[in-house]
Amino acid sequence: MSRILLNGEDQITNPYKKNTHEALDIVKKRYQQDTIIAHSDGTVVMVQTKIPHDPGSTGNRSYGNFVKIKHQDGYYTLYAHLKEVYVKKGQKVTKGEKIGFMGQTGNAYGIHLHFEIRNSYDRRIDPTPYLDKDLPKNENKIYYQVYDNVKKQWLPNVAVNTGEYAGNFKNAIGGVYADKYKLRVHDLKKGYWLPWVENREDYAGNLGNNIDGIQIDNAIYRVHIKNGSWLPWVSKVDNTSNGYAGIYGKAIDAIEIK
Ligand SMILES: [Zn+2]
Repeated sequence: MSRILLNGEDQITNPYKKNTHEALDIVKKRYQQDTIIAHSDGTVVMVQTKIPHDPGSTGNRSYGNFVKIKHQDGYYTLYAHLKEVYVKKGQKVTKGEKIGFMGQTGNAYGIHLHFEIRNSYDRRIDPTPYLDKDLPKNENKIYYQVYDNVKKQWLPNVAVNTGEYAGNFKNAIGGVYADKYKLRVHDLKKGYWLPWVENREDYAGNLGNNIDGIQIDNAIYRVHIKNGSWLPWVSKVDNTSNGYAGIYGKAIDAIEIK
């Protein structure tokens, strides 16, 4: 299976070459077309549409219709020459989500996907080692993520202390996963605290049930109330403390840890 084609197995028609073609050209096995899916969780940062097949074109136009996604630690993936684009700029996508359909828009000879991976300096790196693997992860960072009860899916990982938060405003969360933290959540529906979990051994929450309180041991964190605002930062709490972030009876839709 492939991490960028919905149904197919990748067939590379043009490999990575430093300074000449810093990308992979890909079709589905036996030169078939396919739907393109996001390689990893991230946020769509650039979309170009309405470009026709235009051999010889240069610059951004040569990519035709394309999607560029920003991933954790600043890596990007770029998918070019698309016939159709299914996502919008600013949209959060999860690994495997449909983002477009293969085409030959822009400077393309034949229908294929032009696939790039770029580092945090926006420089192209060889995508070959990552075709079926996660993008490189920064081991010095700590990540957390939440479950969106409306979208019914886990949202992308967010790194601690980057000014980013986990959650979609207006969509209540039902679960929290975190590296290296001990945490528990208060289930709004059941009206009590669920067991403590540690270091991604399990997630905290009953997926689908809204959360109205969060306690994280040894962290500075805050929560955002659905249809409300950010509550004040909460610092260190422990098993015996009453300290927590949230207001009983009000669903939380985002959390930030610093
Ligand atoms: Zn190419």
